[in-house]
Amino acid sequence: MDNIKQEDIEDICFNVSQNIILPKFKNLSDDDINYKNGSDLVTAADIEAEKELKKNLLKILPTANFIGEEEYSRNENILNFYNEDAYCWTVDPIDGTTNFANGRDKFAIMIALTFKEKILRSWIYKPLDKIMCSAIVNEGAYINNNKIITKEVNIIEETIGSISTKYWEPGFKDKLKIFKNIFKEVSSYRCIGFEYIDIGIGIRNFAILSKLSPWDHIPGILFVREAGGSDIDFDKNKYDFTKKNKNLIVSNSEDLNFKILEKIGEYS
Ligand SMILES: [Mg+2]
Repeated sequence: MDNIKQEDIEDICFNVSQNIILPKFKNLSDDDINYKNGSDLVTAADIEAEKELKKNLLKILPTANFIGEEEYSRNENILNFYNEDAYCWTVDPIDGTTNFANGRDKFAIMIALTFKEKILRSWIYKPLDKIMCSAIVNEGAYINNNKIITKEVNIIEETIGSISTKYWEPGFKDKLKIFKNIFKEVSSYRCIGFEYIDIGIGIRNFAILSKLSPWDHIPGILFVREAGGSDIDFDKNKYDFTKKNKNLIVSNSEDLNFKILEKIGEYS
């Protein structure tokens, strides 16, 4: 793990974004756009970027397994890699594909390195800004080379965040409309990587999430934890990407997580 150089991952992300992702930004042909699993958008840039990321990350750590969002859509069994006694790369080649495909600026490359159920390192790269956000377990969270620490806001009425409206228990969906009003603002970037970064920095305060695909969440979870934030699922457990997860609260502080969870209980 120690032989992974930050510059190497930065170079990989920079090259993939310059050579594959950005040339297709605002420049996708109809042939470049497809749908997977019925409704999820996927572009030629997602697929090409993942291939290139895989090739280069495995050069750095040849014994590691690899789980990519696009590979998973063809073979769900790759999630079994998490149970092996080995390092594993997890990659979301483009987080925020819908933004990317519509020429909107919030999209990111996300990478994580894990060993069994432990998240060791993660990277979230913003191609348009050329900004690298990263985290090392027990060391800290960084934006470029600057260590960051989150800002706690523990009064629910003053918090800004997002609530995933998909996949909740059927009865809760209607109540969500009322529930949303207890917060200062509920809005989504449609790019969870950007939300994790802003929770880490303290510009935003929380995200209530569902349908937890590991590539969407492992990188940002480590970033928020190392910035001083916290995560909790509805059964009061920490996020565990090796298990099937339902809903998760991520925020600036454990205190805020419990307050939100309590409110969810009142509204359920
Ligand atoms: Mg993606």
